Amino acid sequence: PLVLGIESSCDETGAGIVRGTELLTNTVSSSMEQHVRFGGVIPEIASRAHLEAFVPTVRAALAEADVSLAEVDAIAVTSGPGLAGALMVGVAAAKALAVATGKPLYAINHLVAHVGVGLLGDGGELPEHLGALLVSGGHTEILAVESITSDVRLLGSTIDDAAGEAYDKVARLLGLAYPGGPAIDAAAADGDPRAFAFPRGLTAGKYMGSAEKPGPHRYDMSFSGLKTAVARVVETFQAARQPVPVADVAASFQESVVDVISRKTVLACTEHGITTLLMGGGVAANSRLRELVTERCARHGITVVVPPLSLCTDNGAMVAALGARLVSRGVAPTGIEFTADPGLPVTTVAVPAAG
Ligand code: ATP
Ligand code: MG
Ligand code: FE
Repeated sequence: PLVLGIESSCDETGAGIVRGTELLTNTVSSSMEQHVRFGGVIPEIASRAHLEAFVPTVRAALAEADVSLAEVDAIAVTSGPGLAGALMVGVAAAKALAVATGKPLYAINHLVAHVGVGLLGDGGELPEHLGALLVSGGHTEILAVESITSDVRLLGSTIDDAAGEAYDKVARLLGLAYPGGPAIDAAAADGDPRAFAFPRGLTAGKYMGSAEKPGPHRYDMSFSGLKTAVARVVETFQAARQPVPVADVAASFQESVVDVISRKTVLACTEHGITTLLMGGGVAANSRLRELVTERCARHGITVVVPPLSLCTDNGAMVAALGARLVSRGVAPTGIEFTADPGLPVTTVAVPAAG
């Protein structure tokens, strides 16, 4: 099926088009530059940017794929989780398109859509015993994907800041530019990851529990204590009127983040029989994270798959890919009786039709 996918959960307006498992186009407009001076995504600005970018982005996608709206078999849109106001713009626009064209509409889960990237190309089949590690500015989640259309479970997530959010906040403490991920990644290259012993959130024995008696945070992560620890170190140098060793702090911070994420991921995967791990989200761009996750997974026979970065960050193609799979599996469309749901649980792959 030919499917148009629409994404607006954060600061990217995405329109992607797929034919079955073939990617035709992936058009993305980001409002990231408009958030730079605030050091983080401002929801109201993101919503307004979606409003302005929606029509040009969809038009560009259709032109690039050389298809007309009339040829499209179905429309898929991210309905959650994400920023309420941002989601509402994409949802309203997708409903309007569906009503105007009479096309079936699927309301899709953003997190599951990130995994849907794995459907594109290469025969279009996901490996069995699949897991996913999603790390971005708004998400830090470990998922078990038994079936992408019907059985996705959340194994672990951050209990406070998302990994990318921690990067952005720490970059600000260090006087580095937004987005903080690439800035810290670059600064860390010249630093010593052992210079500062920063805390590893929720990895002490009492949080890890045991397989028989799981602790409450067995696969969960925490990054707010780490952020505070970095702030204390920065303050100490400033109080002593000494220059902050930015490279060493960045490298030590990064090592803590990737250590926690990779440890929790490997633990969740081995205890759930996961043999392939798909990475997604903007933080998947981090070279040290990829390295450590791949190294630790390899020790347990887990294969790590990292899609191209343009498909890791938020985009419409992943929404279209999941939509196309739902269509070909004969899943009924949602219709237009649904609303954006900022807290949509990962177990809801697509919102079922009302009534
Ligand atoms: P969502 O959470 O809804 O998926 P988002 O816009 O917050 O959306 P992305 O656009 O996928 O997330 O990713 C942006 C985040 O990724 C930012 O927090 C940024 O700092 C981080 N990031 C980008 N490159 C790197 C990198 N090399 N290392 C670490 N973090 C990175
Ligand atoms: Mg983004
Ligand atoms: Fe995302």
